[in-house]
Amino acid sequence: MINENLIIVGSGPAGLTAGIYAARAGLSPLVIEGMLSGGQLTETAEVENFPGFAESVSGLDLMTSMHAQAEKAGVRFAMDAISSVDFSGSVRRLVGMVDTYEAKCVIIATGATPRWTGLPGEELYKYHGISSCAVCDGNFHKGKDVAVIGGGDTALADVIHLAKICRCVTLIHRGDSFRGTKVLVDRVLAASNVRVLKNTQVVSFNGNGGKLESLTLSNGETLSVSGAFVAIGHVPQTDFLKGSLDLDDEGYVCTNGVDTSVSGVFVAGDCANPLYKQAVVAASTGAQAAQQAQHYLEG
Ligand code: NAP
Repeated sequence: MINENLIIVGSGPAGLTAGIYAARAGLSPLVIEGMLSGGQLTETAEVENFPGFAESVSGLDLMTSMHAQAEKAGVRFAMDAISSVDFSGSVRRLVGMVDTYEAKCVIIATGATPRWTGLPGEELYKYHGISSCAVCDGNFHKGKDVAVIGGGDTALADVIHLAKICRCVTLIHRGDSFRGTKVLVDRVLAASNVRVLKNTQVVSFNGNGGKLESLTLSNGETLSVSGAFVAIGHVPQTDFLKGSLDLDDEGYVCTNGVDTSVSGVFVAGDCANPLYKQAVVAASTGAQAAQQAQHYLEG
């Protein structure tokens, strides 16, 4: 059993910023990193809209630097995946795969994970051609044809990244207009090796049993590809909180600012924010949560 003052669950921009603020406030926080240290941003090729970087910075470099800053501030880290919590007493209990933790105060900053389509063939060819991370897996398809599914910033950024590596990238979007930022849309439309299919859906993922070979599309086309990148949004990582904190219908933590339904348990970042999902917003709510935690612990 590990007894702590403040535990922060999650190590993306929200968790690390909360850690930096809390450590500098003398709260001696423990950050539980989860299995993907640094969170979703480590899978983003280029970040152009995080303030402070006149040139773009890679998501991995940004998070590595944030981690180093947190360590320097005095944050301690544990690598674990929390599977259940008990927030009913004044001492909050968190049960992980590796250890069990107790703390006076908790900040939840677990973010969100990529959503999958659930279409036929997806489970069979997931990680055998189907991926949710263009930065991680794009190089497997160097010089080959690939597809990206989605119409938001993630899909557009994936297309831009893959167009530099692959022969042809087909963007398949179910809608008529893109949700993503105009600057990214313009770059996608300007790329000579990108084909855009709007108002089109994937019907199935097909292959030889071992690896993905093609997609059947709603326009009747069979699209030959070696890779398909699914970029259709995210699902909050909050299953372990069910029954302990109020969650909305989609699983996002219900909030009032950074307060949750339990006093002394605060929340920051994408697991509570279905609207903005920006690294800078996550970082800002991390700072707010740390300050609320300080008031709670010292008040
Ligand atoms: P998103 O903005 O929610 O977009 C999801 C896209 O997937 C939408 O176009 C949606 O179509 C489509 N979609 C959803 N379910 C689908 C399904 N079952 N089949 C086919 N298409 C489906 O998600 P996101 O692109 O991951 O972005 C999430 C947040 O992160 C956004 O706020 C975004 O701005 C931010 N982000 C920012 C950057 C950056 O560079 N700053 C990079 C990545 C992400 P409809 O449009 O038809 O609903």
